[in-house]
Amino acid sequence: MTSAHLDAPPVTVRVPAKVNLELLVGPLRADGYHDLSTVFQAVSLYDEVTVADALEWGCTVIGPLADGVPVDGDNLAVRAAKALSSDARHVGPVHITIRKAIPVAGGMAGGSADAAATLVACDRLWGLGLSRDNLEWYAAQLGSDIPFLIAGGTAIGSGRGESLAPVLARGTFQWVFALAEGGLSTPAVFAELDRLRGDGPVPEPMPTPELMGALRTGKAAELAPHLRNDLQAAALSLRPGLATVLEEGIGFGALAGIVSGSGPTVAFLVSDVEAGLDLAVALTASGVVRDVRRAHGPVHGAHVLPTSVD
Ligand code: ATP
Repeated sequence: MTSAHLDAPPVTVRVPAKVNLELLVGPLRADGYHDLSTVFQAVSLYDEVTVADALEWGCTVIGPLADGVPVDGDNLAVRAAKALSSDARHVGPVHITIRKAIPVAGGMAGGSADAAATLVACDRLWGLGLSRDNLEWYAAQLGSDIPFLIAGGTAIGSGRGESLAPVLARGTFQWVFALAEGGLSTPAVFAELDRLRGDGPVPEPMPTPELMGALRTGKAAELAPHLRNDLQAAALSLRPGLATVLEEGIGFGALAGIVSGSGPTVAFLVSDVEAGLDLAVALTASGVVRDVRRAHGPVHGAHVLPTSVD
């Protein structure tokens, strides 16, 4: 271990959650994964990750959504820091503090977001000076959603989701997220999709031109009919109550509703901030959701907060 940076001030990185505007799942591959074609959008629900030099590796998770997040080597943030440390001539260790505001196991890539934030934070703390491309390369080794949480914005993901290409999207879209009690395991949702599909042929996934066109208009009403998630049927099969949440949200005026990633969070697209407020109030009063969050997208990916600039 080197002590070269022991006096460095802690670094805090803010990182967004993601919603999949389109998530197309290809056939099951021989290696057990599926090829995906997805369009990610980064939304303004943020975790904040602080890394500080320490005598030993450690992790603390704080905030109302901290329950159930591992604080040992299973935490994706810890894994990311250790992976970067071992490649960077064994700088470290660090203590990582995660302020959790992204729903856990909610289909919004909270764990991947923390890993992305940790890579950006450790790069700064340790003075590595890695380029964005380099950071995204490390991120892709750690998990398929992680490069996107560094990049942010709106982007097409292919392969397992880790190969990114930016998408031209105009304007800002308003979202309301309905949080559910408990999480859903991503592997379990993919397994349920395979079970529902049976032996039938599954086409190779390709981004749909209609969605790309809608994003270029910047209009929520144009985007709404093109939101699609192949995992939705599987999430609904495992969590039938989500169908009620989707119906209620549409009934209360959402332009569209979709299960976010592998769920169980449900994302509602609304026309403007006012409609988002109305929907959030109505969903809360309906009692069918655990909680709601309003957000907008696209937003920037993981970035160092100015207070921690040295
Ligand atoms: P994705 O959309 O990427 O499939 P998700 O949003 O459904 O993921 P996460 O919040 O990333 O789910 O959590 C999935 C599991 O990962 C959790 O149940 C938890 O045990 C584990 N985990 C590891 N590190 C973290 C972290 N930093 N934050 C949240 N969960 C973590």
